[in-house]
Amino acid sequence: MKVLFQSADADAQASLDLLARQLPQAHFDLWPQAGGEAHDVAVCWKPPPGFFRGRRFRAIFNMGAGVDALLQDPELPAATPIFRLEDAGMAEQMEEYVAWAALGYLRNMDVYVRQQERAEWKQLDPRPRENFSIGIMGLGLLGQRVARYLHAMGFPVRGWNRSERGIDGVTCYAGEAGLSKFLTDTQMLVCMLPLTPETQGVLNAALLAQLPRGAYLVSIGRGLQLVEADLLDMLDSGHLAGALLDVMPQEPLPADHAFWRHPLITVTPHISAQTLMEASMRQIAEKIDAFMRGESVSGLIDRNKGY
Ligand code: NAP
Repeated sequence: MKVLFQSADADAQASLDLLARQLPQAHFDLWPQAGGEAHDVAVCWKPPPGFFRGRRFRAIFNMGAGVDALLQDPELPAATPIFRLEDAGMAEQMEEYVAWAALGYLRNMDVYVRQQERAEWKQLDPRPRENFSIGIMGLGLLGQRVARYLHAMGFPVRGWNRSERGIDGVTCYAGEAGLSKFLTDTQMLVCMLPLTPETQGVLNAALLAQLPRGAYLVSIGRGLQLVEADLLDMLDSGHLAGALLDVMPQEPLPADHAFWRHPLITVTPHISAQTLMEASMRQIAEKIDAFMRGESVSGLIDRNKGY
């Protein structure tokens, strides 16, 4: 079996070595050093334009959960199955990130950080956790894990998803019909949706206005889901109390971007769930192995849905 390996990350060779150790029977080529020879499968992450030109694979394995960047490639072979990374250590990181955001907002930590900058000693009233409702948009592999985790921490949790979901202790809403009800009582909105034509710009003024006054936004799906100007308006008008943004319309976020210096915005550099290379390469090796043996493989992308 021949594998073509490509990664936009600096340590591509190290990742390839990890994968090669899991698949000793396979021959690996690292792109772009590899010549024009044929390969059975591609393992890739954000391939540059031209990567797929003139190439055919039996399957493509994406080294991340989101395939939005991959599906943008006009030369992506039309009928080749694409498999994505599923959890591989990302769910636990998402749980930690959102728990930190929830506790930080609940306990006014962002306000205390700003007070410290002014040497201001002022105690704020605590908010009871049981009255602080968190809404998760997108109850997929990662969203479900976060919803369950927050519920176990004692927060009232609600979720919104395309199809109906039943999660113990979590109030679930589905589709357009359930969206307004979901938003009305959500004090902290966490977007964990994949980026698709439907979800691009979903975090806009019309949606954010349905949150109660003083709500907080956590954006950890993809940056293009957020309409930047609408967020700034909502913060300036006081409708939103703050936002924690891990994903940006343009990454890295340009140094002169308003988000960096906005007093009510916290920026993190796309780290809410990082790819853990050992676990990820182990999972991709298992998927390749199963695929080559003709077994069913989970994580197949539905190109019509875009995730
Ligand atoms: P997933 O298992 O594919 O889940 C996606 C969920 O979103 C599904 O439950 C799906 O509903 C729902 N959904 C999709 N489009 C929708 C729409 N228009 N309206 C309502 N619900 C919709 O994906 P995942 O593994 O949980 O990952 C989710 C996303 O997180 C990824 O695509 C990626 O963009 C992002 N991510 C970010 C980071 C980071 O570090 N910031 C790391 C990893 C992943 P149905 O099942 O009903 O179709």
